Amino acid sequence: MAVLEKIQMKTPLVEMDGDEMTRIIWQMIKDILLTPYIDLNVEYYDLGLENRDKTGDQVTVDSALATKKYGVAVKCATITPNAARMTEYNLHEMWKSPNGTIRAILDGTVFRAPIMVKGISPYIPTWKKPITIARHAYGDVYRNTEALVEKGSKAEVVITRPDGTQEKYQIHDYQESTGVVQGMHNLDSSIESFARACFNYALDTKQDLWFATKDTISKKYDHRFKDIFQEIYDQEYARRFAEAGIEYFYTLIDDAVARVVRSEGGYIWACKNYDGDVMSDMVATAFGSLAMMTSVLVAPDGTCEYEAAHGTVQRHYYKHLKGEPTSTNSVATLFAWTGALRKRGELDGNSRLTDFACKLEKATIDTIEAGVMTGDLAAMSTLPNIQKVGTEEFLLAIRERLAQSL
Ligand code: NAP
Ligand code: MG
Repeated sequence: MAVLEKIQMKTPLVEMDGDEMTRIIWQMIKDILLTPYIDLNVEYYDLGLENRDKTGDQVTVDSALATKKYGVAVKCATITPNAARMTEYNLHEMWKSPNGTIRAILDGTVFRAPIMVKGISPYIPTWKKPITIARHAYGDVYRNTEALVEKGSKAEVVITRPDGTQEKYQIHDYQESTGVVQGMHNLDSSIESFARACFNYALDTKQDLWFATKDTISKKYDHRFKDIFQEIYDQEYARRFAEAGIEYFYTLIDDAVARVVRSEGGYIWACKNYDGDVMSDMVATAFGSLAMMTSVLVAPDGTCEYEAAHGTVQRHYYKHLKGEPTSTNSVATLFAWTGALRKRGELDGNSRLTDFACKLEKATIDTIEAGVMTGDLAAMSTLPNIQKVGTEEFLLAIRERLAQSL
């Protein structure tokens, strides 16, 4: 066999390393499936908790700024510290979630999409293609102000305009009972960013875009979301959607839920913050496994950061540290790499890199569909001849198939 020349990369890819079992998998993926074939051109940031602590979390900010500069990043799962991690890692501070920090800097929207394979069937039998959920990650109930209210109180919304004049709206006169009250907000600028990220991602992946709110009940708040989406669509995207042969479709959230259940999949479902929080968990579970779910953060200017939707798989890591064999599923982390490499290839006009990413994904799916899989999938798969393999063995089996396709 001819020795293949390694694939070159013009522009660096931003690499964000992470924690625990996913950090172990990260290195294995690079060693087994990437560096033998690609001269990896990466700008490396170590977001492992120790280094975040050592740098006062500056490394997270730097990695996000580098992503802005180069346009594409791939991120390993990271620990979000809690009280237990403070002691375990002897931390100087309870650092914020890196994903939150990166999202705030990139002003991005998170898209979560399942990877589907034969033998792992969604709980909804009509779903034949992935359903991607886009969650607006700003405002509403996640940035609310709320209070308990005594009987006999009145609650009002007061808006003080820039010129000092005030407008008041009564929320409720609590004559009959004690109760609760809540105030929340959103920003046109954030909704606009969300809309553009969704329209861009739909064009990128050539899928229809659905959006739904409760605008019949919330005639100003939710209606504003509907109007902003429609205006941006009409002005900036309608023509490009027509050219790509895809559709933008708005409906009431109740109708959307009913349609999603009856659908075949194969579209992006844009959700307001709360809807996205709840529906992404439902859709992920219905598709079978969190270990088969990818996640992409897309900024309004098209900058993308790819990762797995799951965490650092701590329980498996402790087994690994004790020298016990593990069978951790690396598919979502591997698809984060292929997603990022393909995007890098597309932006640079580097077709060898794009082809490689596609072939690596195919080799992964073919391996599972041939019955070779990690324990989590083996426990769910309906295929007849299943061979359950360990963490590293699985990646080696993918390499065998990949080598045949190159
Ligand atoms: P997790 O890492 O997602 O794992 C929860 C359980 O799900 C595992 O114990 C395992 O079940 C199963 N699982 C998840 N991914 C798997 C995979 N690739 N292969 C096989 N099984 C898999 O969630 P967690 O244990 O709640 O969180 C651990 C750490 O991850 C936390 O410190 C959290 O802060 C962090 N986290 C990070 C991100 C991120 O960076 N995006 C997201 C979520 C959580 P079994 O044990 O039954 O095998
Ligand atoms: Mg949730």
